[in-house]
Amino acid sequence: MPPPTPELADIFRQYGPAYRQTHSLPLHQERLMQAIEDCRTPALGGSVDWCDHCQFTHTRYRSCRNRHCPKCQGAARETWIEHVLEYLGRYTHRVAISNRRLLNLEDGQVSFQWKDYRDEQQQKVMTVSADDFIRRFLQHALPPGFQRIRYYGFLANCHRADKLDLCRRLLATSLSQLLPALAACHDFYASLTARNPRRCPNCGIGILTSIQFLWPCPGPLAPRLDTS
Ligand SMILES: [Zn+2]
Ligand SMILES: [Zn+2]
Repeated sequence: MPPPTPELADIFRQYGPAYRQTHSLPLHQERLMQAIEDCRTPALGGSVDWCDHCQFTHTRYRSCRNRHCPKCQGAARETWIEHVLEYLGRYTHRVAISNRRLLNLEDGQVSFQWKDYRDEQQQKVMTVSADDFIRRFLQHALPPGFQRIRYYGFLANCHRADKLDLCRRLLATSLSQLLPALAACHDFYASLTARNPRRCPNCGIGILTSIQFLWPCPGPLAPRLDTS
């Protein structure tokens, strides 16, 4: 059986301590590393939830909610942004690399998929050392107060002409034409309720109620505790 594909958190948990010893980090990068390492682990605390239909109990740890964390941004985008503002969400909620693109973590080497825009957008695989991978990832971490929209949005160099043209056309369109039809709103509501985060993942019917609060518990990390 092939080894499970790594997540960004696995790379940081395994190689982050060595990286910290050899690089001096600005505060926002250190915070980002810590957030990714702690995301959905006992370090952030959580709750034990109970299903009122099948009696299933489910331990849930808090997410870090850092805007650069692929797990948190991926979930946030799936829940809301893809439904509401798919185009904007693709750019404003973009993280430096998504977990989907990570292929392998072995012997201190990380392999990941990337798109070569200079070669007809071909998907390629790159392998770099974990140290170099962490350095590249942290370069994308923006200091507090900075927004990335300018660089990835309609002013990004590779899309500027097309997107500015789209903006002009949208500005010349009446608001009523841009709003979704009533049927689309109903679909949107249904899709949200179907993804109710309180819905029991075991039976899909009951609603989860928190029966125990788990205090944040910093310390050695277990490998991967909750992949939701
Ligand atoms: Zn997170
Ligand atoms: Zn249930």
